[in-house]
Amino acid sequence: MTLRDIIDRITKAEAAAGRTPGAVSLIAVSKVQPNARVEAVLQEGQRIFGENKVQEAAGKWPAFREQFSDVELHLIGPLQTNKARQAMELADYIHTLDRPKLAQTLARLAQEIGRCPDLFIQVNTGEEDQKAGIMPRDADAFIAECQALDLPVRGLMCIPPVDEEASLHFALLAKIAKRNGLAGLSMGMSSDFEKAIALGATHVRVGSAIFGDRVAV
Ligand SMILES: *Cc1c(COP(=O)(O)O)cnc(C)c1O
Repeated sequence: MTLRDIIDRITKAEAAAGRTPGAVSLIAVSKVQPNARVEAVLQEGQRIFGENKVQEAAGKWPAFREQFSDVELHLIGPLQTNKARQAMELADYIHTLDRPKLAQTLARLAQEIGRCPDLFIQVNTGEEDQKAGIMPRDADAFIAECQALDLPVRGLMCIPPVDEEASLHFALLAKIAKRNGLAGLSMGMSSDFEKAIALGATHVRVGSAIFGDRVAV
């Protein structure tokens, strides 16, 4: 697959679902990809990228931002509170607000820094022990808590369990977002982004389908 192929598939999925053209943002997930591949995708015109580690993003994106204007960087991996400041300084969006302590840290830093990236709250829709995210039953209260802290919560994010039908998880995430008045839905990856678009995704996170398999650098 190439970037063009993925963009075509997104356009078709939007149309099939009766969504507004351009309603879905493609986040090209560049984690662990060699810089040359990332640069090739930038040269093709892609400007929205996702990374899952703060350290890796810090090593890569300041230089690309100097070379290419209008880059929008999304952090999509688990965030430790001791990396929160660096994450906030680097990223335009953080998709993994998943616990009260992190919410409090982001709120305090937002005051200090004077700005805050747009935020998605990660929901552990599969209630998996090994996965981050707020439990579905705790989501409404946590969303309210984040809003009370004046955090710019734009929507919800999930990573469905590998062995379950992703659509059920996308539908659950959409339902929680809707009843809380949140417009953003970060859901869908290489193997299931069309299903996510059918269920209302506003941001799909696609890595290997654009870049090929992740190789060690
Ligand atoms: C790596 C990653 C993706 C992209 O996965 P692909 O299957 O390569 O498309 C999406 N979301 C998160 C949170 C990731 O860590």
